[in-house]
Amino acid sequence: MSVMAGSNKKARRTRDEGVYWLDDTPVYLTRKNVRNLRLRINERGEFHLSIPWRASMSMARDFLHEQAAWISRQQERFARRQAAQPRLVDGETVAWWGQDVPLKVVEDPHPRARATAEVGAGAIVLHLPVGAPLEKRQRALNKLRKTSLEIRLAPVLAKWAAAFEIEPGPVRIRRMKSRWGSCNPRTRALTFNLELSAKDPKYLDYVVAHEFTHYFHPNHGPEFHALLSAKLPQERQLHRALNRRRNTT
Ligand SMILES: [Zn+2]
Repeated sequence: MSVMAGSNKKARRTRDEGVYWLDDTPVYLTRKNVRNLRLRINERGEFHLSIPWRASMSMARDFLHEQAAWISRQQERFARRQAAQPRLVDGETVAWWGQDVPLKVVEDPHPRARATAEVGAGAIVLHLPVGAPLEKRQRALNKLRKTSLEIRLAPVLAKWAAAFEIEPGPVRIRRMKSRWGSCNPRTRALTFNLELSAKDPKYLDYVVAHEFTHYFHPNHGPEFHALLSAKLPQERQLHRALNRRRNTT
């Protein structure tokens, strides 16, 4: 898939008006209310070009050819990142409550077998139908993460609810891109990041106490920190340590 930088890009147009081929790289074109031509790569490694209404198609084509080297670099970067992604295969390790635990994969020859995950003796065990794709492996592991986090979270929520003298709102666990938890002070709903199950359990105290503090102070102002550090004096160290180790699987 990767295009060599500096290669002579011969472009052709497909019958599909929405795709332009730059060598063997498809670029998806969309007319949009934008000021300038804008090229980006999405999380699947696909290239999208937004074209202002006033720009001609030949301007868009010329622009893509000028960007050929950038496109090549992005493709290489994407490929490198893909290669570094966990594949959840036998022998890999999984970050599990602050430890690197070996992953053991048990394949069921039946292609329709259910995918499940469990905590085994010194290993996380994935039971998978033979040849299960990454998404299926990830889903099974995430289900285990969710269950495990629910179990560990319950006493931590109870402990801090007593400390703050509050009644926690509804709790949700899901994958979050950039935060460990969130709190809606109006609905009192709390959301916790599934990936907390990769971290040392001590961070649960920090994240729960942090979110409960938002019941009193929606922002991270001085009053917020005054209250949180009164309840959890190490809050700033925990915050720093948790975010330093953000590179999770
Ligand atoms: Zn916050």
